[in-house]
This record gives sequence, C-alpha cells and structure tokens, in this order.
Amino acid sequence: MLHGLRKGEAYIIVDLVGDFVTGKFGSSKAVQVAMSTLETVKKMSGKMEILMTRDAHITDDPEFRIWGEHCVDGTSGSELYDGLAQYATRIIPKRHYDAFFGSDLDGYLRAREVTKLYISGISTDICVQHTVSGAFFRGYEITLVKDLCTSIDEKNHEDAVKRMIANYGVSIINQWEFEELYVEK
Ligand SMILES: [Zn+2]
Repeated sequence: MLHGLRKGEAYIIVDLVGDFVTGKFGSSKAVQVAMSTLETVKKMSGKMEILMTRDAHITDDPEFRIWGEHCVDGTSGSELYDGLAQYATRIIPKRHYDAFFGSDLDGYLRAREVTKLYISGISTDICVQHTVSGAFFRGYEITLVKDLCTSIDEKNHEDAVKRMIANYGVSIINQWEFEELYVEK
C-alpha cells in the first residue's frame, strides 16, 4: 500500500543482514542498531517508503579479495535481520558498497518522485558512506540517522560521519528526532 506515504521521501536501511549483525562481522553494537531500527520501522510502517538493502554476493565475488567471503546470496549471512523484511516496501539486493551501483534503487526512487532520503545502517564508513555518496551524485537531499548506524570497526564511525557532513552536506538526526517526524500531531 503506497497511499498515505509521506511524499517525496524514503528511508534507506543499509545492510542489516546476518553477516553484519550477528555473523562474521557482527557485534553487540550491530545487534543493538538492528533492534532499534526494527522499533523505528514498526512505527513508520505505512507512513514512509522503507527500502532495505541486502549485501548479496555471488560466489567468488571480487569483493572477497578484500573482505573474505560474506553475505553470499541465498545464505543466512545475506538475509535481513529477524523481523525487518516485513516492513520493507522494497528490498534491494546489492553486490557493491554503493547501493545505487548496478541496482534499480535510483530508478525505483525516481518512479516514486523521491528527492529526500533518510539513511542509516552498517557499516557507517563503508556501505553507508558509499551509498550516501551515490545519493549525493544523483542529486538527493540526504539526512543520516546517526545513532542507527555503526561500523564494523567502531573507531571508524565518527570519522565517517564527519566526512559525510564535509563532503556530501548530509544533515544529522538521531532516532527519536526521526521518529518525531512521523508522530501524528
Ligand atoms: Zn559485501
């Protein structure tokens, strides 16, 4: 159901999948981010386009030269965190850091006349940052929901946020400010 959704806006949740939450690159912080994100999307369901990207690699994907095998399509490592998928208006499988690269994300957003994006997920400094970059160069206005992001290596999180502000002009909000936008007044 698309009727009644906030016009021109979408929320993109990057890679809250098995290997980044509980698996190979998972952490207690990642689980906390995934659980908090689940609470937020429950409140936003039916009010907002909610797109969830899913790192979904082919076997022997060239990216494995950097990271080793992870998020192989068809395995639990590539599945969205428990309970999330039901709240997605669209799930975007991706093979690259930037969710816009080689996917139908941009075409989908343009068909829905979306110009403003809220973005969060894992890892702040890798797939989140590259997806923010992809959005910036396609002309979207971007707000990062900072406390619903985390990095595989947590020390990289704050630096990545600073770079996204400096390079792409992103606005920063936190989870409760984001939810406030959707509370009926
Ligand atoms: Zn990957």
